[in-house]
Amino acid sequence: EQEVAEYRKSLAIRVSGFDVPRPVKTFEDCGFAPELMRAIAKQGYEKPTTIQCQALPIVLSGRDVIGIAKTGSGKTASFVLPMIVHTMDQPELQEEGPIGVICAPTRELAHQIFLEAKKFAKAYGIRTAAVYGGMSKLDQFKELKSGCEIVVATPGRLIDMLKMKALTMTRATYLVLDEADRMFDLGFEPQIRSIVGQIRPDRQTLLFSATMPHKVEKLAREILSDPIRVTVGEVG
Ligand code: ADP
Ligand code: MG
Repeated sequence: EQEVAEYRKSLAIRVSGFDVPRPVKTFEDCGFAPELMRAIAKQGYEKPTTIQCQALPIVLSGRDVIGIAKTGSGKTASFVLPMIVHTMDQPELQEEGPIGVICAPTRELAHQIFLEAKKFAKAYGIRTAAVYGGMSKLDQFKELKSGCEIVVATPGRLIDMLKMKALTMTRATYLVLDEADRMFDLGFEPQIRSIVGQIRPDRQTLLFSATMPHKVEKLAREILSDPIRVTVGEVG
């Protein structure tokens, strides 16, 4: 334990919450399957970034996470890689609709996450859909109707698609709110609450943010269960 605490300190990682898994040093430590290891290597990722070292084992253990680390620290892979594992672990059900739902504040951010998710998902034949403005709603409706396991969305457009019944979220068990502070700045709190309200309460929920203003903290308290908070560096 002492050694783990010192290792965290050397990486400027702070954690709070109970039973926090120890940080990994390599992607091998995460126990990823060979296909996923190959996809990671293909990205040129040799070892996990600091946030990934601590967030990956926590998310893989199924716990809820609040992740706070600055832009460019590699937060995307820390929720995308476990999402692939989570998706592959689900039994084949008759039900439809995404298993993983990721919300991001802007079209550009959602698109970046979509691209990253697709790179890892395609090794498994997992279908990833992008749901944000700038595309025809009809085309998006058709794409969602044809089926997907992962949706990367801006909150407003996802609400539009839910209203059009392009998808249902009865099968969703993995929810990510990325850049939560920016989503609040852009006024998406009602949409986020509506989306969360449509996803079963026994889901795994991950919230990433560069800062934790009071309103975001309050939402996190309401929608996450026994979260572990991981902070890297001087932020938060
Ligand atoms: P954040 O969401 O924290 O701003 P990103 O997830 O967008 O950061 O990652 C920033 C950059 O780092 C991206 O170009 C990504 O491809 C790259 N990256 C992520 N993880 C690794 C890694 N383990 N090794 C090398 N590069 C990585
Ligand atoms: Mg990011």
